[in-house]
Amino acid sequence: MVDVCIIGAGVVGGMIAERLSKYELSLTIVDKGGDVALGATRANSAIVHAGFDAKEGTLKARLNVRGSQMMEETCKRLGVKYKRNGSLVVGFSDEDRETLKELKARGEKNGVTGLELLDREQILKIEKNIGDSVTCALLAKTGAIVCPYELCMAAVGLAMDNGAALKLDFDVVKIEREGEGYRVISGTGESVLAKCVINAAGVHSDDIAALVGDESFTVHARRGEYMLLDKECGRLISHTVFRCPSKMGKGILVSPTVDGNLLLGPTAEDIDDKSDVKTTAEGIAKIRASAAEQVSGVDFGKVITSFTGLRSVGSTGDFIINSPTDNFVNVAGIESPGLTSAPAIAEYVEGMLYDMGITLSEKQSYISERRPTHYFSSLTNEEKNEIIKEHPEYARVICRCELVTEGEIREAIRTNPPPRDIDGVKRRTRATMGRCQGGFCTPSIVEILAEELGIDYEEVTKLGGKSYINIGKTKSGD
Ligand SMILES: Cc1cc2nc3c(=O)[nH]c(=O)nc-3n(C[C@H](O)[C@H](O)[C@H](O)COP(=O)(O)OP(=O)(O)OC[C@H]3O[C@@H](n4cnc5c(N)ncnc54)[C@H](O)[C@@H]3O)c2cc1C
Repeated sequence: MVDVCIIGAGVVGGMIAERLSKYELSLTIVDKGGDVALGATRANSAIVHAGFDAKEGTLKARLNVRGSQMMEETCKRLGVKYKRNGSLVVGFSDEDRETLKELKARGEKNGVTGLELLDREQILKIEKNIGDSVTCALLAKTGAIVCPYELCMAAVGLAMDNGAALKLDFDVVKIEREGEGYRVISGTGESVLAKCVINAAGVHSDDIAALVGDESFTVHARRGEYMLLDKECGRLISHTVFRCPSKMGKGILVSPTVDGNLLLGPTAEDIDDKSDVKTTAEGIAKIRASAAEQVSGVDFGKVITSFTGLRSVGSTGDFIINSPTDNFVNVAGIESPGLTSAPAIAEYVEGMLYDMGITLSEKQSYISERRPTHYFSSLTNEEKNEIIKEHPEYARVICRCELVTEGEIREAIRTNPPPRDIDGVKRRTRATMGRCQGGFCTPSIVEILAEELGIDYEEVTKLGGKSYINIGKTKSGD
């Protein structure tokens, strides 16, 4: 029997695992996906929200502000890129100006510092490409950006370095009481017996809660579509530029990413199907119209990809973090600002386990830090040459758009949590993420993956399942 089983390897489950891995606890993380970070954590705006948006007095507001305060140190420790670029919520009318005043007041009640109302002249001094019809803005100096899936992978990886087990392709379909604990059972009949279960299953967290008889809340999906632009456009603005919020959320944003691209989106559409991640012509049109008003000079010809994320909208309007039955914890309805709040959610859940009487004694051998994911590219030429002398594979560039070397790809495949397919390599190294979207480097990555995983060339997939890249040889022989 393990001490804790965490259902869901998104940023929330990952940060909880990482937090608990410093204690003498046996941990197993299970996820129905073929990799970590495949849910909302893969596709979101990547903003560390300052904390002025959530309603004062809610758990969401409290954990947002605390998470924002913890994020810089967390990213440093986990070797994840973080940039405090500040954010601007822009308004176009007197009515918007009133909303911005309310947001400022709410932020201050929530404990957010560094909030300022700006008029157009002041905005132009810090953001010269702001849209022509923008008249006012709320500046949040503590706003920041991160890479969400990098954060999740680093957290799960560090938890694994500290002994946690990760079981992928583990779709939880049943949970039974067994003695003092729970048997968590997958669709294929595999199971994990655990003293304590943490439900961090994102948009499916209500389905998991129902497996232990808790039907006190529901979660529905709200689709958000995005467009990502080439790095050539990444310097158009330096702040994250939000639109004045509406009932459906924070509205469309225009933001640089930590990797230097420009991100536009998301839309907001409530849907019934919790797996519907298509992008639509209407969604893309909405994003274009809003982004062009917020920022001047967005070059829509430089879009390199589009994608969709699903928000987990809980029925209570707040984060649902509770224990409906002995040693079972729900971490549900974690919509935005869930990424920002993740370190604080982990801290909160740690406190709940302590209150439940679970012994939390610190490990002597705890590893508290992780080497930065993209450390090689940040080295000086002299430092790179030192590594290349011993490992010439670091001199062979595989992805020319993002300048990713064979050495980095091989290293990523050998690092926790190891990738199993092309998209897994992409999220860890950025190979295939550039302008050509893998047009040139995919065959080389297939070869490296096949060699590292000890599988046949034809068995390599793009994103698990039957998404094979090659369907057979065109020539036989040696
Ligand atoms: C469009 C959009 C924009 C957002 N923007 C921001 C932002 O800028 N800043 C911010 O702070 N937050 C933002 N968020 C919110 C943030 O992305 C989420 O709160 C966060 O990623 C939630 O993480 P999670 O681990 O709870 O969920 P997920 O990442 O969805 O992880 C849940 C995991 O559970 C697994 N799972 C589900 N069912 C089962 C099962 N039966 N068995 C096993 N595993 C299962 C899934 O495979 C998945 O990996 C945004 C979200 C969206 C969708």
